[in-house]
Amino acid sequence: MIIPVRCFSCGKVIASDYVKFGEESKKIRNETGHEPTGEEKSKILDDLHVDRYCCRRMILSNADLIDEVISYS
Ligand SMILES: [Zn+2]
Repeated sequence: MIIPVRCFSCGKVIASDYVKFGEESKKIRNETGHEPTGEEKSKILDDLHVDRYCCRRMILSNADLIDEVISYS
């Protein structure tokens, strides 16, 4: 729903990297007209120095649903 501030497994702060990941993904979407491929996502995470797979799964598997859920509160 909301990206957790820290990785559940190792405790690295990942929330700020998630924002940058979203910006880079949006940039690729606007330039190429398609969703970023797995390789492009991998390169973004490498550039952000998100190296551990526990942190990468936190960013890649997050579904941003807060805007949809907040209307029911
Ligand atoms: Zn981690």
